[in-house]
Amino acid sequence: TRRVQDALEAYRPPARLPVALGDRSYDIVVGEGLLERAGALLAPVLPARRVVVVTDETVGPLHGPALRAGLEEAGFQILAELAVPAGEASKDFSKLQSVLERMLAAGADRRTGVVALGGGVVGDLAGFAAAVAMRGMPFVQVPTTLLAQVDSSVGGKTGVNLALGKNLVGAFHQPRIVLADMATLRTLPPRELRAGYAEVAKHGLLSGETLWRWCEAHGAALVAGDVAAQAHAVLESCRLKAAVVAGDEREESAEGGRALLNLGHTFGHALEAESGYGGDLLHGEAVGIGLGLAAALSARLGQCSQELPGRVISHLEACGLPARIRDLPRRHSASALLGRMRKDKKARDGALRFVLLHGPGEAVTTGEVSPAMVESLLRDEGC
Ligand code: NAD
Ligand code: MG
Repeated sequence: TRRVQDALEAYRPPARLPVALGDRSYDIVVGEGLLERAGALLAPVLPARRVVVVTDETVGPLHGPALRAGLEEAGFQILAELAVPAGEASKDFSKLQSVLERMLAAGADRRTGVVALGGGVVGDLAGFAAAVAMRGMPFVQVPTTLLAQVDSSVGGKTGVNLALGKNLVGAFHQPRIVLADMATLRTLPPRELRAGYAEVAKHGLLSGETLWRWCEAHGAALVAGDVAAQAHAVLESCRLKAAVVAGDEREESAEGGRALLNLGHTFGHALEAESGYGGDLLHGEAVGIGLGLAAALSARLGQCSQELPGRVISHLEACGLPARIRDLPRRHSASALLGRMRKDKKARDGALRFVLLHGPGEAVTTGEVSPAMVESLLRDEGC
């Protein structure tokens, strides 16, 4: 009986969260052991029991076998398992072409599902391949990084990079279902887990006091591996992102909408670009520093309490993230960062775009902040 009790206590049924997008609606399933049940979960949402799996060379060997077993158990035929090299460099045209050619050579047709097993790189690449192959194949996200589970697998943005910049080519292509399996996070390097957590903290700040206070209370446990905290964060992050995306699927809203999800990202993208995309600074690490700077900018403009920036910075520090520019090994120049911000895809007519906070749960977009104000903030931060 002891063992039955243990099993009962350990059993958490997967949670399902709907993303309401009319005839493109889908569910995000959050739980443990979903790969082993992937076939049963996918069968109702795919037109045929036939898939190609796209993954990377790190994730494939770790989690491909469980996914394969789960799919085959429900009678799925796996036409091909395609692995690209791990890392951002795989989000490019030559990898896209090779994925498309190998998929079609393996016999994929318009009813074949494309299953992305991996982080945001695999999700963006496989999703874009699914969007353009034969003008659209059904697509499934199986995110295996925290960043992909709380952010990139939801919302339908797919694409690849150009030498000119990141994500400059892409399509909106919503998945048929998202399977966020907490078990996959156990093999994720801790630094990647922490970096993904920065997007959770972002969602906390956007969502309101409830989720932000939850982050302050449980963020450190989450990055230390607490599975229940991870599942809660994925669910609440996806709830926030799904609600925002449902109101502004294609990022067309002039104010608010999906643009609010860029909190911390004007600073973050500039830092990332200045550091080079070679892994010196992970996207989430740059976003974490960007969250602190966005709060500091908001406080300087008198838009939020003077305490908020300190609260954000101490929280990120408690979670083991670099929280301030001066924590970075490399010194950054304020004018170089400003130059990067002016070139940001989101900058309109040269005006800097920021998401500012009035407080947790109250974010606004603005194009009104003067470069001089931003430059003096960066200098005071040690640039
Ligand atoms: P990633 O896909 O490169 O994964 C990070 C590293 O972790 C890789 O080396 C990968 O092989 C490894 N990995 C992944 N899962 C693992 C696991 N379970 N165990 C062990 N190792 C594992 O990076 P990411 O941070 O997941 O995603 C970043 C990408 O996502 C960027 O290209 C970014 O542009 C994109 N993105 C897209 C959206 C969107 O809306 N589409 C949103 C945010 C970010
Ligand atoms: Mg981001």
